[in-house]
Amino acid sequence: MGEGGSKARQVAQMLKTATSLWGDVRAEELSVPAISQADYYRLACHLLFECQRCGTCCRTGDPIRLLPEDAQALSRHLKLPLSRASKKYLSRDEKSLIFKKVRPCRFFDPSVSGCRIYPARPHSCRIFPFLGVYGGDERVTLHASCPGSVEAVRSLRDAMEGLNEETDPEKVRAARRWFDQVLASL
Ligand code: SF4
Ligand code: SF4
Repeated sequence: MGEGGSKARQVAQMLKTATSLWGDVRAEELSVPAISQADYYRLACHLLFECQRCGTCCRTGDPIRLLPEDAQALSRHLKLPLSRASKKYLSRDEKSLIFKKVRPCRFFDPSVSGCRIYPARPHSCRIFPFLGVYGGDERVTLHASCPGSVEAVRSLRDAMEGLNEETDPEKVRAARRWFDQVLASL
């Protein structure tokens, strides 16, 4: 098994363990997870995701949302005062800050199919394609136009095959903590 396969197996095992004892009476011994079962699947997919630099998301994503700290990172990266960077590049819709011009994103460089502000790209670009939504939604959204996402789901599905439900609450607790740390590190 290659490095990718063994990583997939490791992540799949953690996922299987973290989502074991879900709704089971023994789960009373466990703290209630802050995130849904689907979120654990999303995190596992995110961990296995490798961007294939096709550029589709940067050409077609609209709107591209930003957190306030993304605006600060952009201003630092471009060495522009925040007010100037905001005036030039940012706008706001009813939900959040957004990039002014999209389709393609003005920071997309077609010559290398890459991002010109990669170290300062917004959080929404960092967590694409799996982690835009937390909680409640019981489905992982597969972006068929994103080859990296299709491959991540395929490798996770293959690696999950034959894994058994974990019955030891302490192991389940440890696996959920592991995913909590992954989430906190995003
Ligand atoms: S669509 Fe997916 S694989 Fe293509 S550049 Fe975007 S994230 Fe990477
Ligand atoms: S900021 Fe970079 S990663 Fe995000 S959409 Fe634009 S080019 Fe793509």
